[in-house]
Amino acid sequence: MSAPDAPADLTRNQALVYAALTRAGGPLSAYAILDDLRAAGLRAPQQIYRALDKLTERGLVHRLESLNAFVACCDPAHEGHEMAAFSICEACGKVGEMTDAGLIDRLKRLAARDAFQIRSMTLEVRGLCAECAARA
Ligand SMILES: [Zn+2]
Ligand SMILES: [Zn+2]
Repeated sequence: MSAPDAPADLTRNQALVYAALTRAGGPLSAYAILDDLRAAGLRAPQQIYRALDKLTERGLVHRLESLNAFVACCDPAHEGHEMAAFSICEACGKVGEMTDAGLIDRLKRLAARDAFQIRSMTLEVRGLCAECAARA
């Protein structure tokens, strides 16, 4: 995964957390991020959570509920997209982000039909990645 450039207006902590996630190239728990950033002087989980909140709000980072982990958005150019779909390999843990405007639109329309107001949406699709499937 190539490391996308961080937006210039991030705070120091936000930039550190974002860099840790892009370096990892996969999902990290808040505590794994904290461990990674101790050398940079971050000590309190609160610092990590606050930065993650902001990064998630901006769509630079997505939260994977089922893994209780965070992952850098595959394309910060679509910063602000609060909806994303992920494939999660159950064998190797590889996470892939899938974006499809048509799918998102369709879900929005379905929700609108019931006058449901979407606050956030992260779809998690579980299975085997191509490599693990070939090995199975
Ligand atoms: Zn994304
Ligand atoms: Zn796999």
